[in-house]
Amino acid sequence: MAAVAGRGSFEVAPCVVRSGETVEIVIRPLAEGAAFSPGFKYAVTYTPMEDQGGYSAFGTRHEPAFRVTGGELRITHRFDGEQEHGLFVEELRSSERIPVLDARVYSVDADLYDRRPLKGDLHIHSNRSDGREPPAHVAAACRRIGLDFMAITDHRLYEPSLEAQAAFAAHPVDLAIFPGEEVHPPDNNIHIVNFGGSRSVNAQFTAPGWRQEVDEIARGLTGLPPKLDPYLYASTLWTFRAIHECGGLGIFCHPYWISDRRYHIPGSLADRVFEEQPYDAFELIGGYHRHEAESNALQAARYHEETRRGKRIPVVGVSDAHGCERGELFGWYFTIVFAASPALRDLVAAIKDLWSVAVEALSGAPVQVHGPMRLVKYAHFLLREFFPGHDALCRQEGEAMLALLAGDGSAQDALASLHGRTLELHRRRAAAGCP
Ligand SMILES: [Zn+2]
Ligand SMILES: [Zn+2]
Repeated sequence: MAAVAGRGSFEVAPCVVRSGETVEIVIRPLAEGAAFSPGFKYAVTYTPMEDQGGYSAFGTRHEPAFRVTGGELRITHRFDGEQEHGLFVEELRSSERIPVLDARVYSVDADLYDRRPLKGDLHIHSNRSDGREPPAHVAAACRRIGLDFMAITDHRLYEPSLEAQAAFAAHPVDLAIFPGEEVHPPDNNIHIVNFGGSRSVNAQFTAPGWRQEVDEIARGLTGLPPKLDPYLYASTLWTFRAIHECGGLGIFCHPYWISDRRYHIPGSLADRVFEEQPYDAFELIGGYHRHEAESNALQAARYHEETRRGKRIPVVGVSDAHGCERGELFGWYFTIVFAASPALRDLVAAIKDLWSVAVEALSGAPVQVHGPMRLVKYAHFLLREFFPGHDALCRQEGEAMLALLAGDGSAQDALASLHGRTLELHRRRAAAGCP
């Protein structure tokens, strides 16, 4: 890409359009001195990234109609297909062409256009289990790094997630905070996240009766390999069923995590879970440290292998962070869900329906997105062109949430003034707004 005047100096709106529609794209200067002037001459060259059709011939320059008004440059063009498009703006000075901006626009079909890209972490810990900070701090820190939704999922504990919700329940906060827990069936190493469920599944292990139910499930199992203890698979099934009964999303966590010098669940159990798919979503990208990258590589390979075999696998990426201020894990991994809204039912339905991708964004490394190709391509665009502005707004809100927790009396006003700003940004992103 040609070096152009900083992309951050301009807002391109809308930057997401419906495929096949003719749209006026407004390029609005944000920095001082960047305004477009009717006294200057400009040229705009259009280049589609992918579906190049008639645009690929050498020596042809496709110049869409544009006008300069009120310091803005307005370009009218029809954007076809699901792909990224370049609008390369130059200033013409005698024989020189001076690059101004390489504006990027993405066109999507209606089903994707109507969905909002929402960033979230579905698996994270507080100091109520083995994390570092209190639940409310973790929630505020999640907003500070640009997340739209999250749940505290402490080991064996559901209450910390409610504590995070309660801390901000009376305040105008645009982070969706859900209940959650990491569920550990007794005598089974498998880890399962209950995201959003309306009650604790861990708590049910202390009540009488669950073991008999598991034994009954075990008696009904057929075709298990001899090396797989029926109790392990039966208690796994019982846990996913209990999560479903309370409306939660059951997440199959980190099967290739190395603990005690071996993967923490037996391969025969992982095989059966991948085969029968009692889960709602798979942690395609789990919260591993840099030296544990092999575990994520294996999870990604397994995902590709299973989908190649015809499995339909909803995916999430999670930080599984045990501290927000340690400079590791927190913010490295997250999920982008393409959902109608950040309401729990919409998020859960979207994830189960394959409208999500898992993102790796380790500090100092290029971002990587995993999941269905169509969404991966779009997510890369959004991470580059849309989310930086979104994240900057979230940072202000997260700071105000932290200030509120610290007892700062002005934080409430700051939150009130930021309330609705990220939704407004989503509306500007897409021409006709979003739900
Ligand atoms: Zn775990
Ligand atoms: Zn965990």
